[in-house]
Amino acid sequence: MAQKLLQKLKKEESELLKSRRELEAHDSFADIARVSDNANPDIEVDGQNFHEKTEVLRSALDRNLTQIRRAANAIKKGKYGRCDICGQEIPLARLRVFPTATLCTECRQKKELEKQKIAKKKSILTSR
Ligand SMILES: [Zn+2]
Repeated sequence: MAQKLLQKLKKEESELLKSRRELEAHDSFADIARVSDNANPDIEVDGQNFHEKTEVLRSALDRNLTQIRRAANAIKKGKYGRCDICGQEIPLARLRVFPTATLCTECRQKKELEKQKIAKKKSILTSR
């Protein structure tokens, strides 16, 4: 199962890298269009929105890539499918849906709760 998954992850990684390259190619093209058409303010705004969108997409792609590489590493070390926090096996049903999951359902929920608490604290602090 691990070998198959590793292949699947490798495939996903190369697909992500491909879309990342395409994204960058389009983004630089947008930059050129913006520079060469400075007289038209509409095009400039469009180019800027496009750039922002590609930045968001790019960081999402990078996050996915990091997760895939982490999972692939865990498979190689024979540690795949174990929770990063408690070391328990992550349920297979969860791994099927999220092959790059690094936490079991319980720890993930705890972490989410902590995040919410921190976010709440922060919003209290900043609203003072
Ligand atoms: Zn756990």
